[in-house]
Amino acid sequence: MSKHIPKAHGHKARKRFGQNFLHDGYTIDRIVKAIHPRDDQCLVEIGPGMGAITEPILEACGRLNVVELDRDLIPILRTRFFNYPGLTIHEGDALKFDFSQLAEDGQRLRIIGNLPYNISTPLIFHLLSYHALVQDMHFMLQKEVVERLAAVPGTSDYGRLSIMAQYYCKVEPLFIVGPESFDPPPKVDSAIVRLSPYIELPHPAKSVETLQRVVREAFNMRRKTLRNTLKNLMDASQLEAIGIDTSLRPEKLTLQEYVRIADAYYDQQQEQTDGSE
Ligand code: SAM
Repeated sequence: MSKHIPKAHGHKARKRFGQNFLHDGYTIDRIVKAIHPRDDQCLVEIGPGMGAITEPILEACGRLNVVELDRDLIPILRTRFFNYPGLTIHEGDALKFDFSQLAEDGQRLRIIGNLPYNISTPLIFHLLSYHALVQDMHFMLQKEVVERLAAVPGTSDYGRLSIMAQYYCKVEPLFIVGPESFDPPPKVDSAIVRLSPYIELPHPAKSVETLQRVVREAFNMRRKTLRNTLKNLMDASQLEAIGIDTSLRPEKLTLQEYVRIADAYYDQQQEQTDGSE
């Protein structure tokens, strides 16, 4: 069990930075065991806060990059970890951070974090854009977000986040963490998820931007049928020609079917561009 549970050091948790600090040694140990850090790996922690996970990770692998937005936490981290030369602190916004600068000679990143819940979805989309440089990601998220990441077609949780995460990654929900493990306790349950980007995508689209556009349009009005939601891109006969049942709602289609639509739309756009030249 972790010996050193961080004390508040006079720091008042800030809601706008999504600060819910882990203070439960059992949960911290479980998270670290799930991550299983080793000393030859390139680990990156988003939002170290006061270092609850940072310390056991550093103990295990000796080297860690962290990205923290709250500048008041930086001196707390520097003091707490002054005798850990392997810790590199980046003060800044993870949403804008260029993670490619941390990938060293072909070594893929292992990204971890008890993420600020208010920005977790845009942050996951930002991180997915680095999929080729990432070995895996372990995140604490609102349980509901983990359910959306792992959702299968035909369920109410299935949507844009599920499809784009599953396009790039194997998604494994690991375990649930109750509010009592945090200070202050959040109002909702949390869960740990592991996202492991595929080295070779199982269902590659010709253009991922097109896939994103198709999925965004489809789920803009998730209670309508595909015939309606996709009408700005393709008409029903074009969709039916590639085997899509346009009377279905967007949540019924699999990732492969969305890739099929995106590829057909992409080809159609290319033909139009070629024709106009
Ligand atoms: N890892 C610590 C723990 O488990 O106790 C803190 C987790 S707390 C839920 C989220 C952390 O992310 C806070 O330290 C917060 O300041 C930081 N944070 C919030 N927004 C951020 C952003 N855009 N970029 C980087 N860090 C951010």
